[in-house]
Amino acid sequence: MKPRPLVCANWKMNLTASDASRYAEALLARLESQTESRPERVEVAIAPPSPVLDRLGSALRGSTIELAAQNVHAEPSGAFTGEVSVEMVEDLGCRYALVGHSERRQLFGETEIDTAAKVARILSGSVRPILCVGETLEEREADQTLEVVGRQLSAVLDPADQAIQMDEKRLARALVVAYEPVWAIGTGLTATPEAAQSVHHAIRQLLVGRLGPAGEEIRLLYGGSVKPNNASALLSRADINGALVGGASLDPEAFAEIALSALD
Ligand code: PEP
Repeated sequence: MKPRPLVCANWKMNLTASDASRYAEALLARLESQTESRPERVEVAIAPPSPVLDRLGSALRGSTIELAAQNVHAEPSGAFTGEVSVEMVEDLGCRYALVGHSERRQLFGETEIDTAAKVARILSGSVRPILCVGETLEEREADQTLEVVGRQLSAVLDPADQAIQMDEKRLARALVVAYEPVWAIGTGLTATPEAAQSVHHAIRQLLVGRLGPAGEEIRLLYGGSVKPNNASALLSRADINGALVGGASLDPEAFAEIALSALD
């Protein structure tokens, strides 16, 4: 059975707390009537900037839409000016946290070691990591996609396993993986559904090889210029269990349409 899809918005550094209630109202108006009768068919989450979490959480209260953090620090607390802990976002009601987004890796120097430490920290609490992996254009052209994605996954799974003593079933239930080819993020270029499915299938095999049958339960999201006009084709593929949506998620109508595509 296909895992329940997750469609998660990533606002990045856009929209303010003042925009949150308008956004939530528009999204809920479009979404709730159509998903209420079948909440098991799609889960929707939003990752706003950290200062917006509280206000957005209030605006979404009573709905089924989940909150996600865009980033957390690997340490539980301490002298890390400007950083946000897992406990802080947990306290604000976050169910998910993005980890290893390519912008964090490329613009902020986040290493595979950092990413692994963050995932281990997140898994020690009740928040679930959405681990982003994906190759650059250069790596894709050198035919290194599977090697890169495999390395990024192993870098996290091997130490996480040792660090958190979690059995495969619990790990599979908590972990979400987002395949985000870097060349498709914010560029308007999207992997074709066939190409995305083929990488997702390889990721699935890798996870099953690593975690056994529990690996089938891990949700694999696709991210990279997902829009209302390409979401259905992507989400209908066997190993694509949802989407991570950047640019198009800034418009609640467009984001709702993408989320509803998961019901098709
Ligand atoms: C992202 O940042 O996770 C993303 C997928 O962005 P976009 O949809 O704008 O490509």
